Amino acid sequence: MRLQDLPLREDLRGRTPYGAPQIDVPVRLNTNENPYGPSASLVTDLAEAVRHTAAELNRYPDRDALGLRAELAAYLGHGLTTEQVWAANGSNEIIQQILQAFGGPGRSALGFEPSYSMHPIIAGGASTEWISGTREEDFGIDPDKAVAAIAEHRPDVVFLTSPNNPTGTALDPAVIARVVEAAPGMVVVDEAYFEFARTGTPSALTLLPDNPRLIVTRTMSKAFAMAGTRLGYLAACPAVIEALLLVRLPYHLSTLTQTAARVALAHRDELLGTVDMLREERDATVRWLRDRGLAVADSDANFVLFGRFPDRRAVWEGLLERGVLIREVGPPEWLRVSIGTAEEMAAFRAALEGIL
Ligand code: PMP
Repeated sequence: MRLQDLPLREDLRGRTPYGAPQIDVPVRLNTNENPYGPSASLVTDLAEAVRHTAAELNRYPDRDALGLRAELAAYLGHGLTTEQVWAANGSNEIIQQILQAFGGPGRSALGFEPSYSMHPIIAGGASTEWISGTREEDFGIDPDKAVAAIAEHRPDVVFLTSPNNPTGTALDPAVIARVVEAAPGMVVVDEAYFEFARTGTPSALTLLPDNPRLIVTRTMSKAFAMAGTRLGYLAACPAVIEALLLVRLPYHLSTLTQTAARVALAHRDELLGTVDMLREERDATVRWLRDRGLAVADSDANFVLFGRFPDRRAVWEGLLERGVLIREVGPPEWLRVSIGTAEEMAAFRAALEGIL
């Protein structure tokens, strides 16, 4: 049986799934993970907490994850409470639930590209028409053009990614405020990389009190170094969370996930302790690439977009042959490297020197 012979939904025919290659190489700098694993003492605490909850795995988890949401609210600050925070299996599932509730057949979502490739893919899965807005030469968003695109398309959901993936660009909250004012529906600010932003960059959380149609999403996959746990979350007004309860699957967040996430939050000082190091390594990587005469986008995230290579595939393959996996993503001629440990970045630099 071939895929095209199955009675697949017409709107899914010909689509390609998300496909960052998972290749086992010495230096993996392709999916923006945090390169630092948990310490031995954190591993012990995680194992102990899992051992404790294992005795109750005959029962369904806390369906509303109240304990975890209270702790996430405390972590976010800004006076947020449990009723304003929601959690799911990665921010990808958070985005899916948002589109299930606020998008859907006959509705549309607008994003400003290049941006996170999963936003249009999740929109497609939720039968939501995708509208591609554009970014400027420096990968920022021009607020006037954004407002014009919103006026033209009247999207039900607008995505703003800040810092943006794959460019690393952070948005001024004034731009976000203009978009929220103009948008007829929900505005999602995807802050998956917020903790890596340069100090002083304000979060869109500051805009929540005045904007009930604003949703800010975060994840424990990046700065928190917990990509394997699959824990994403959002902050919004309580009514938004009531809407998401209509589409979420019952018991979507397993007891093991909730347990691991709570242990990670209790160890936030250790886990987030790598952020400063990664920021420094990022800034050093930007300088090094620029010193080689390459074009490099300013980055507020844990990755750097650089180019321009008329044959970027050859550069990507050359690095892979030297044991370094980066990502062929973003505008043509550009490549993205995630920030790893000092040793991994040295390996990346040595490999790239060999190619240039
Ligand atoms: N948003 C952005 C901008 C991302 O880059 C990613 C991960 N690559 C995600 C959301 C999803 O992360 P997760 O599902 O692991 O929380």
